[in-house]
Amino acid sequence: MTAAPPTDGVLADRYGRVARDLRVSLTDKCNLRCTYCMPAEGLAWLPGPQLLGDDEIVRLVGVAVRLLGVTEVRFTGGEPLIRPGLVGIVAAVAALEPRPRISLTTNGIGLDRLAPALRAAGLDRVNVSLDTLDPQRFARLTRRPRLADVLGGLAGAAAAGLTPVKINSVLMRGVNDDEAPGLLRFALAHGYELRFIEQMPLDAQHGWDRRTMVTADEILASLRGEFDLTPDPAERGAAPAETWLVDGGPARVGVIASVTRPFCGDCDRTRLTADGQIRTCLFATEESDLRGALRAGADDDELARRWRVATWEKRAGHGIDDPAFLQPTRPMSAIGG
Ligand code: SAM
Ligand code: SF4
Repeated sequence: MTAAPPTDGVLADRYGRVARDLRVSLTDKCNLRCTYCMPAEGLAWLPGPQLLGDDEIVRLVGVAVRLLGVTEVRFTGGEPLIRPGLVGIVAAVAALEPRPRISLTTNGIGLDRLAPALRAAGLDRVNVSLDTLDPQRFARLTRRPRLADVLGGLAGAAAAGLTPVKINSVLMRGVNDDEAPGLLRFALAHGYELRFIEQMPLDAQHGWDRRTMVTADEILASLRGEFDLTPDPAERGAAPAETWLVDGGPARVGVIASVTRPFCGDCDRTRLTADGQIRTCLFATEESDLRGALRAGADDDELARRWRVATWEKRAGHGIDDPAFLQPTRPMSAIGG
């Protein structure tokens, strides 16, 4: 093990992990208010001048791809579809050499309209968040009556060829924890790939409770009441989802058990916030400022050097189960989920 960060090459940390998957938050704002993510009144949004401009984002993604070995770029937020320059940013990132794979995590509102342009710009895939198929529940859970828009967005993404279309679902006890089989039936019927995500302590209201969260084991037990699940023979690699074949396959279902089965040892992620800070982990309590350096005139080599130094300091794990665990001060919507 070397004691100092590498001066060239990929984004390595002191535990031997290499970050190749970059998550870029394009905005901290959102048109929904999911209860596990944001308070009803929203948050104190980042002031405009602090946000990276479209060119600044493309430049930093370029540094990651050309100098640091990043091969996957995912745009997220907040809600990335509300960023006006999104299509242009995707097109510019798709023109980078070597071309990274490009995906988007979105709540799906407006995706029916935007999917063809995003596809044409070079977007490869989407993940759409959908936690319930019941319109009343959807309105309670997201505090907005927009279920039909999300379903339209899913259909639009599939029609535009942004496949495989994946659905991310978070289950909450007493809210939608009875919907695992129904969500899987829906996904199978439409050819979408469903993944459940254990709820994490990243809500701005600090309402998360380990004792009441719905665990991966509970989700699997609920699915097994209706489906035959067998371990997926495909290699998992650094993918956070553990996957199962449904009724013999080829359809699959995934569970991302960040809390009860952490996969930090295989993590290959690095994150750039909408205001230009590098975060090595969703749960990091430190950030590293690239925006300041970029605006002060740093060249690409210097930006790459700063990114390597930040990555070297990445912690071994998120430590949610550690009694000394501290929830990060930024909520998920401001980090980029
Ligand atoms: N607005 C987009 C969306 O909802 O897909 C992108 C940003 S959102 C923060 C990204 C993902 O994080 C969503 O799938 C959402 O369900 C998930 N998420 C948000 N808060 C979470 C929490 N406390 N625990 C687990 N997942 C969460
Ligand atoms: Fe918005 Fe996504 Fe957070 Fe829901 S989970 S409030 S859609 S950022």
